[in-house]
Amino acid sequence: MRSQGKLYVVGIGPGDADFLTIKAVKALQSSDYVIGHRTYVDRIREIVKGEIIESRMGEEVERVRRAVKLAESNVVSLVSGGDPSIYGMASLVAEYVAENGVDIEYEVIPGVTALSAASPLLGSAVSGDHAVVSLSDLLTPWEAIERRLVAALLGDYVIAIYNPSSRKRRGNLVKAMELVKKFRGNVPVGIVKNATRDEEEVYITTPDEIMENPDAVDMHTILFVSNSESKLMGGRFITPRGYSRKYRLREAGRKEMEASGAATSKAIEITRQSYEVVNRYFGDTPEDFIIKRCVIATGDLSVAGILRFHKNAVKTGIEAIKEGRDIIVDVHMVKAGLRAKNVTVAVDYGESNGDDTRTASGFRKLRNKLEGNIVAVGNAPSAALALYDIVKEGIKPALIVATPVGFVNAAESKEMIRQLDVPSITTAGPRGGSTICVAILNGMMSLAKEDETC
Ligand code: SAH
Repeated sequence: MRSQGKLYVVGIGPGDADFLTIKAVKALQSSDYVIGHRTYVDRIREIVKGEIIESRMGEEVERVRRAVKLAESNVVSLVSGGDPSIYGMASLVAEYVAENGVDIEYEVIPGVTALSAASPLLGSAVSGDHAVVSLSDLLTPWEAIERRLVAALLGDYVIAIYNPSSRKRRGNLVKAMELVKKFRGNVPVGIVKNATRDEEEVYITTPDEIMENPDAVDMHTILFVSNSESKLMGGRFITPRGYSRKYRLREAGRKEMEASGAATSKAIEITRQSYEVVNRYFGDTPEDFIIKRCVIATGDLSVAGILRFHKNAVKTGIEAIKEGRDIIVDVHMVKAGLRAKNVTVAVDYGESNGDDTRTASGFRKLRNKLEGNIVAVGNAPSAALALYDIVKEGIKPALIVATPVGFVNAAESKEMIRQLDVPSITTAGPRGGSTICVAILNGMMSLAKEDETC
């Protein structure tokens, strides 16, 4: 026969009792027993009418056992900080009940988790797609934590880091910040310590600063790692909404190593070793292959996060290469790197006048030649802007590769190219350059060659 009691697993929010839900308050007030860790119980002591049972950290299983036993004939609240389903007690109760076939009624009452309490204190750290990673290796092996953290970094998610540190494992935070630096650079990291509690602290720092002084981050802290969209505006950490991208962590096949086109056996061996490194982090779609080429060409894993593929660009580009379409590039530096003969350089045709740079004017002169061909801008934002105008006037290249670089118009020009109804491969933000442009085009040529031999 089913027992008369009931077990509530109650999320009590981040700290301030104002963040308790009405449902949580009702459950706590109706309970004969309230069980929890001392720090949590202290926060709700005043509203509890029944008996309080304190238990210690590390005694979670014992706490659940006791709560379940009491709930056979009493109303019991087992309290959990924040939300019980997020690094809390909910799963342990569910597992325990299922494992033992216990016939009690129980209900999980959600609470405000640290992430949603802390994000608005910084500004709006989390608005779109995000990943949540706990650095605690008490119950999860460090290898799994690291793999997930890397996946999140590659996926360009804003990352909320729970359990960043404790006296016993400062090292995990340092290792995590090293990975952040490797994949994203020394980007802004938002810190919220003791959200909604008396000792609340909110500031923005960087992986370098955290590594210099890891002790500043304790176990009452949550971190937010910016993604490529996050901005600091008026001292606030803001991630505008609406962006997501994810890479798979899969061992790739050998084919692409062989397709890399290295000329000598020594070069092939070096290329193979490079791929061994990057294959750990990327999948084996044609897009992944282009990403890997760029990562290897720059020695910079974070390049993976800024590449943008628009309108099936890789597939269309491969077809254009196979059809022997011409390639028109902005500068000689791009031509010098390309393994192709049919390359025209716009700067040779241009003249610098009041309105245009030489590359922009060169593209305007060559405008009719761009139709149906491959157009690449590796250097000059002005050339990308000219290209945008030309396409708007009705000329349609088969593919645009645009990776102009710098702080004047580079990001904006590429954003405009992405809005065109033409397949494109671009980089987001100010980064880019001829090296990346060449890596993309040579990568496409390798893929086209590989296709032919298949
Ligand atoms: N179930 C809880 C999380 C428990 S794990 C929840 O949903 O919030 C404990 C971790 O949560 C801490 O190490 C810290 O990273 C984070 N955390 C919990 N409360 C917090 C608060 N008030 N301010 C900042 N971080 C907090």
